[in-house]
Amino acid sequence: MTSTNDIRASFLDFFKGEGHAPVPSSPLVPQNDPTLMFVNAGMVPFKNVFTGRESRDYTTATSAQKCVRAGGKHNDLENVGFTARHHTFFEMLGNFSFGDYFKDQAIEHAWTLITKIWGIDPARLTATVYHTDDEAFDLWRKISGLPEDRIIRIAGADNFWSMGDTGPCGPCSELFYDHGDHIPGGPPGSPDEDGDRFVEIWNLVFMQYDQGEDGSRSDLPRPSIDTGMGLERAVAVMQGTHDNFEIDLFRALTEAASELAHTPREGEFKTSLRVIADHVRAGGFLIADGVLPANEGRGYVLRRILRRAIRHAHIAGAKDPILHRLVPVLSGQMGAAYPELVRAQALIEQTLHQEEVRFRQTLDRGLKLLDEQAGDLGEGDTLDGGVAFKLYDTFGFPYDLTEDALKTKGVSVDRSGFDAAMAEQKAAARAAWSGSGSAADETLWFDIAERDGGTEFTGYAADESDGVI
Ligand code: ATP
Ligand code: MG
Ligand code: MG
Ligand code: MG
Repeated sequence: MTSTNDIRASFLDFFKGEGHAPVPSSPLVPQNDPTLMFVNAGMVPFKNVFTGRESRDYTTATSAQKCVRAGGKHNDLENVGFTARHHTFFEMLGNFSFGDYFKDQAIEHAWTLITKIWGIDPARLTATVYHTDDEAFDLWRKISGLPEDRIIRIAGADNFWSMGDTGPCGPCSELFYDHGDHIPGGPPGSPDEDGDRFVEIWNLVFMQYDQGEDGSRSDLPRPSIDTGMGLERAVAVMQGTHDNFEIDLFRALTEAASELAHTPREGEFKTSLRVIADHVRAGGFLIADGVLPANEGRGYVLRRILRRAIRHAHIAGAKDPILHRLVPVLSGQMGAAYPELVRAQALIEQTLHQEEVRFRQTLDRGLKLLDEQAGDLGEGDTLDGGVAFKLYDTFGFPYDLTEDALKTKGVSVDRSGFDAAMAEQKAAARAAWSGSGSAADETLWFDIAERDGGTEFTGYAADESDGVI
């Protein structure tokens, strides 16, 4: 079986062979964009190269970029454990052309790697193009020989990318793999596309326009290419499973979690073990990149991820802290590719342990309160927002954790009631606050925390990439 590590290397080697400069992953905390919570796509570290603000000594590049999508416009936190294809942390493999090659070579490279080098069966592949992009449609026809009914024209935003309200933008083309009709889900563009059967593995972005303040588009003088492929999804295909959590890397983590929690990997607590594996990995990488649990900003996103994992460890029946004991497994799987994990291993273990010890103390009491308050609620009911706020305020339950805890019962939470309670408390705190705190960053985090109830970071400034690939 070809390992995750081999497949990452094979991708990078292929593009190196095609003359692309290999660029190491940037840290998860964006170095060039204070408005973005975490790097969430392979192109983020290259934003200024695409706009021409920065130049590098190469015109084509390839990378495996660490990404986190647990806040902001891309938030996959709620998907984790419930789909076979979403993680909070994942690696995005990419090839980039900064005014060098364009559509034809991008499609050619993608098709060659996928079908010739990796040997993926073309009969299982479907491509999408933006509905007006005849050029991409014709290139797929010519290069791949895919039949016309498997090159689907899509009108929606999924197939048109822009960096922000202004600047580079252009149509996308996505490659989907059909895992077979034993898996629920329909082809892209169909009403049931949001399943695990047709999985999007690669997104090719053709940056060809420059959008002005007034919304008008002109041709970019030097069109560029930005692509992103989810490593774990590609590995799933290569390892013959539709399920990312069945790839070598995640098997190792979920097997270890299953042993630590003394519950079978495939049993009643399968979802919880997956959430634990995913979240420990995200937590480990965030800590290695200098983020520590906190009550605001990036640290709060990390804390939310960890508390969610801690709750799932509790659900799975773990009697003692277990998260930190998965860190050596994570380092074992990924430490060679990401030595920062090994360097920070002691800190990661300590931090996870401390968070788990602390949160377990209040978790029990909080869950009891939740049980009392939600005991009579069933499918279709809504939990009072004030209760969710009390859980947050007194027991440190992030909003999404309460939501997650009720999800299996089909009970939702009154978000506006929660927000109102939060706003009231913030107003009281502000009235009592006499600090000078004028640092722009602090103000930003404060505003974000206030706007989003400190639980969910949706949106930032307008210039966070809209659907950064
Ligand atoms: P999806 O529609 O499946 O949520 P996406 O369109 O949001 O994916 P892109 O922004 O196009 O994803 O990112 C490029 C690639 O990164 C995707 O084609 C997919 O292979 C991978 N990817 C995106 N989100 C995740 C995730 N949460 N976990 C793992 N891989 C992901
Ligand atoms: Mg998505
Ligand atoms: Mg998509
Ligand atoms: Mg996409």
